[in-house]
Amino acid sequence: MSAAPLLRQVFGFDGFRPGQEEIVDAVAEGRDVLAIMPTGGGKSLCYQLPALMREGLTVVISPLIALMRDQVRALTEAGVAAAALTSGNSEDENAQVMRALTARELRLLYIAPERLASGATVPLLRRAGVQAIAVDEAHCVSQWGHDFRPDYLRVGELRKALSVPLAAFTATADAETRDEIVARLFNGVDPQIFLRGFDRPNIHLAFQPKDGPRRQILDFATARRGQSGIVYCGTRAKTETLAQALNEAALPAVAYHGGMEAEQRRAVETRFQREDGLIVTATVAFGMGIDKPDIRWVAHADLPKSIEAYYQEIGRGGRDGAPAETLTLYGPDDIRLRRGQIDEGLAPHDRKAADHARLNALLGLAESPTCRRVALLGYFGETTGNCGNCDICDAPPETFDGTKDAQKVLSAVLRTGESFGAGHIIDVLIGNATERVQQRGHDRIPTFGVGRDNSRSQWQAIIRQMLGRDLIRPDPERHGGLAITAAAHPVLRGEQSVVLRRDLVSRARPSVVVRA
Ligand code: ADP
Repeated sequence: MSAAPLLRQVFGFDGFRPGQEEIVDAVAEGRDVLAIMPTGGGKSLCYQLPALMREGLTVVISPLIALMRDQVRALTEAGVAAAALTSGNSEDENAQVMRALTARELRLLYIAPERLASGATVPLLRRAGVQAIAVDEAHCVSQWGHDFRPDYLRVGELRKALSVPLAAFTATADAETRDEIVARLFNGVDPQIFLRGFDRPNIHLAFQPKDGPRRQILDFATARRGQSGIVYCGTRAKTETLAQALNEAALPAVAYHGGMEAEQRRAVETRFQREDGLIVTATVAFGMGIDKPDIRWVAHADLPKSIEAYYQEIGRGGRDGAPAETLTLYGPDDIRLRRGQIDEGLAPHDRKAADHARLNALLGLAESPTCRRVALLGYFGETTGNCGNCDICDAPPETFDGTKDAQKVLSAVLRTGESFGAGHIIDVLIGNATERVQQRGHDRIPTFGVGRDNSRSQWQAIIRQMLGRDLIRPDPERHGGLAITAAAHPVLRGEQSVVLRRDLVSRARPSVVVRA
């Protein structure tokens, strides 16, 4: 049967969401597919519908038992022969599923990845005449991803054993994870990759350096009085103090964080859901279960931990499609805090380096000289034109050619052995012969003092923008000493220029002294 009537009759939808139709077509044609769609984008339909368009059984690997049960229930209610094999099944249920499989009655079978560890599973699926494999939450196969599940590594073997097409789905899109999924699930065959639907054009994007952060948040909230909003805070304590400050400004606000009793938290959730114009000041604990379509604004009082976290959190605004606004504040302390959290974590070295890169990507977005949506979607691999709905498009900042400055930094980093933090590098650049500089002999290298024309804070701003472009990266193996990345080589060779934002490099850039 073709897609459109099934879409209506079985699923009750009038049309496809952005991106769904192409994926459904490719999966139904039996291609290997990797589809990357944001959460809520409608991934399940992209394997359920093709399963009904072709003959035989589609097996779905999914990591969440509750989710499998929900889907099986919904499908069964819609008249689709679907079942799940999970550790949560009773013996009776299992026996029923086995019987239906042997009789080849099922169209969709959900299994937990742990099932693949049993030697009996592959022969069972082969006997059941599996025609295709679908893998939900495919990023679980990635060791550096946030929910690695070792049993996902067996999915590649399953595909080989059954030699049927595989369609993998995930909302996690960074390039490293994507490559790992392709390598591990598709046994070296390149799948057709779909990446769509990350744009939320109704959400206005804006960042500001911290400059009296409490006042900045209060101003932002006051300008949106009467609208529901969320303020994400870096600490539990700040959720409390900010809620108080907002209430004192006659803006109704409540705090929410993981340290509160479950009952209290539920009370806040319910109030937020029902009440108009309530502000919740929250840690990241707030959000997973929030299903309020008319959140009109989301502010970050502190920098989120990664570009993915930022995207998830602002994405809670404007679910109804009406305009929503965001404001993200950031300052040097946030960046230091986030770096510290990465360095002090227990993750292996490669993972830490990747986390620094993700933080750099967010910093790059915060200090982007060009359209923020282009930068954000670019990170997820989507291309788009200038959006006209971010603070940069509203008022493009002045930029200057910072290539020479960047080269000076890179050279100072290299000549000091890629082992020092920004403070030391700046001492070298501005010719500050501190004890440490002298001890290491860094007052005798050619870069010493070549950056006297900029102040310390200007160099800090330049270095921050260079981190944001991922030209330099703290190296967790060298106590966070800055190291240069591959992206810096063309800059050092003068093959690529570096455009910097003038406003961030300071209003107080020393003017050139003109001698009479
Ligand atoms: P996710 O991508 O997060 O797995 P789901 O597959 O759970 O998303 O879909 C999210 C929601 O969108 C579900 O409630 C689903 O019923 C709904 N949905 C999916 N496709 C469509 C469509 N074409 N039209 C309307 N609603 C849809």
